[in-house]
Amino acid sequence: MQLKPCTKCGRPSFYYRAYSGEYLCKGCFVTSIYDITLESIRKNEMIKYGEKVVVGVSGGKDSVSLLYILAKFFKGNEIIAVTVDEGIRGYREEGIDIASKVASQLNVKHVIYSYKNLFSYTIDEIQDYKGKYSSCTVCGIFRRRALDIAARELGAQVLATAHNIDDVLQSYFILLTNGDTERLKSFNPAVERSEAFGIRKVHPFFRIYEKELAMFAMLKGFDFQTVTCPYMQQGIRSEIRDFLNKLEERHPGIKYQLLDTFMQFYSKEHKVEGQYCKRCGWPSKNELCQVCKTIDYLNSNRHKADEQRQ
Ligand code: SF4
Ligand code: ZN
Ligand code: ZN
Repeated sequence: MQLKPCTKCGRPSFYYRAYSGEYLCKGCFVTSIYDITLESIRKNEMIKYGEKVVVGVSGGKDSVSLLYILAKFFKGNEIIAVTVDEGIRGYREEGIDIASKVASQLNVKHVIYSYKNLFSYTIDEIQDYKGKYSSCTVCGIFRRRALDIAARELGAQVLATAHNIDDVLQSYFILLTNGDTERLKSFNPAVERSEAFGIRKVHPFFRIYEKELAMFAMLKGFDFQTVTCPYMQQGIRSEIRDFLNKLEERHPGIKYQLLDTFMQFYSKEHKVEGQYCKRCGWPSKNELCQVCKTIDYLNSNRHKADEQRQ
C-alpha cells in the first residue's frame, strides 16, 4: 500500500499511526517519541533539574531506549544505569553485556545488583523451592526491592523504569480480574507513590505503545536483547496483551481511551499505611514485608528438601 506523505513535513512516510491518523517519516516518528516522553515527564513532574536518576536497564528495547532518551535530554541530572542480575544462566549475561555497553557509549555509570547478594537466592536456585509461587512472582517481588535498594544506596531521588502503555494496561486488567479495588485507587502509572524512603518512581513511557518503542529502538540502531527468559510464563498477562492488541487493531486509539479511564480511579487522598517491616525495615503493609515472607518461604522449603535428602 502506498503511504501518503508525512503529515508533519511532507517527506515520504514509512508509518501510518492509526490512533492519531498521522503519516510519519522516520525523522518525525523519532521526534514524536521524544515529544511524548518529554511531555509525560514534564506534565507529571517526574524529574526535576539536578536530581539524581537511577534507570533500570535490563538490556531490552524499552529500557535501552529510556536510558538513551534520559541521557540525551537530561544533561543537568546525573543518570545512573542499574541492571538487576536475577541469576538466570544463559539469559541474563547477554542483557548485562548490552546494558553495560550502552551505558558506556552514553557515558553513564553502570551498576549491577544481584539477587544472590541481596536475597541469597538466584532465580535458577529457587526452582526446587518456589512451591506455590511462579518464578515470575518471586522475581517481580525481588526486582522491585533490588531497584529500591539500588536507588537508595546510590542516593537517587528518582527511579525510572521503562513500563509502556501496554504494560500499564495489562496491570490494570490484572487488578480488575483480581478485584483489587484498593490497588486501583492507589495505582498511578505515571509516578508511583514514593513509599521507599521518598524515592519517586517514574514511568516516562507510560503513554507509548510497545510496538512503537520497538520501531524506535530499531530505527535508532540500538543493540538490545531479544531472547526471552526461559522461565517466562505465558499466563493471563499475555492473553490480555493479545486481547488489547486485537481491540486496538479494530479500534485505533482505544488503548489511550482505556488508560485515561483507568487513571480516573486514582485517588491522591488514598492513604498508604505508613508501616515498616519489623525485620528489614522497608515499608510494608504488614508486620513482615513481601520480600521477607518470600525468603522465609523459600528457606522453609529448602530446609524440608534438605531433610528429605538426608
Ligand atoms: Fe524474572 Fe519472569 Fe522476567 Fe524471567 S520472565 S526475568 S523469571 S520476571
Ligand atoms: Zn516528517
Ligand atoms: Zn522485610
